Amino acid sequence: MRNVIILGSGIAGLTAALYTARANLNPLVISGNEPGGQLTITTLVENYPGFVDGVQGPHLMSIIKEQAKKFGTEYLDENVISLTKKGKNFIVKTDSQEIETKSVIIATGASARKLDIPSEGKYWARGVHTCATCDGYFYKDKEVIVIGGGDSAAEESLFLSNVASKVTIIHRRDKLRASKIMQDRILKNKKINIIWNSEVIEVIGDNKKVTSVKLKDNKNKITELKTNALFLAIGHIPNTDFLKSLINLNENGFIIADKRMHTNIPGIFAAGDVQDVIYKQAVTAAGSGCQAALEVERYLGELT
Ligand code: NAP
Repeated sequence: MRNVIILGSGIAGLTAALYTARANLNPLVISGNEPGGQLTITTLVENYPGFVDGVQGPHLMSIIKEQAKKFGTEYLDENVISLTKKGKNFIVKTDSQEIETKSVIIATGASARKLDIPSEGKYWARGVHTCATCDGYFYKDKEVIVIGGGDSAAEESLFLSNVASKVTIIHRRDKLRASKIMQDRILKNKKINIIWNSEVIEVIGDNKKVTSVKLKDNKNKITELKTNALFLAIGHIPNTDFLKSLINLNENGFIIADKRMHTNIPGIFAAGDVQDVIYKQAVTAAGSGCQAALEVERYLGELT
């Protein structure tokens, strides 16, 4: 019987582990199929407080892992397959075993949706990005593309317009999905232009960097557009499939948690991108991991 099992080993999960370990709860982290989470697939992180010269994402995750381990966190490098209730407790089923626990923190994250086009993988994090606040600064005074027509695309474009020399939004339809206020802001912004009814079908580059993209419009006309980078803002897919119907999710599959990281099931808490549709930052994920851990401590203290 465990006090707390943390599902996911991204920055939210590992921060929750650090705090619950220091509360003497001997947490078990089920690392999942992307140990370290989304930060392990980025390069330089320049907006995490405390690192004047930035920090490599994988390095940041490895030192937080060590820090949590130092206080007694245990790690299991497996995937969670299901989470079910057993009386007041819970059963976490992994690839190889079933473990009973009094509480759970779900920090399984979300994955940025990809385009699945040629060379997208080759230039991933080296010209193809999914977070403007994280990677936009690499393109100071350069031309960039944002793909998508929702609030994220609008937000990413507005952020990039303060850094890049020109931002081109490429949207597959002739209407934006973004909220009216965000639409007004991007349409008014002189640095942002929009190519409508078009999709990027290939990323083109040299050995080091992206140089252009191939576009196809809705009349099947193919053109090439020079650029230094693409920012994908075509949505995120939360890793919540294993939950089946145990926890309340929103229409896009993200966990609905309250301000104190409680889900609808007492004893199950959520942290990080799996429940965050607004901020999606490393530092906010870490903060919510801390909050969830403090709530677990309180919950276990009140269990009779
Ligand atoms: P979203 O609203 O689902 O928009 C995704 C966009 O990507 C859509 O315009 C979609 O095109 C496009 N898209 C999807 N797959 C594509 C593909 N394979 N190729 C090309 N384009 C593709 O996602 P989001 O913008 O990340 O927003 C998610 C939720 O978070 C929304 O509820 C949003 O309001 C919220 N959000 C809020 C804020 C804020 O309040 N500040 C900021 C960001 C996000 P179609 O339009 O043709 O479907």
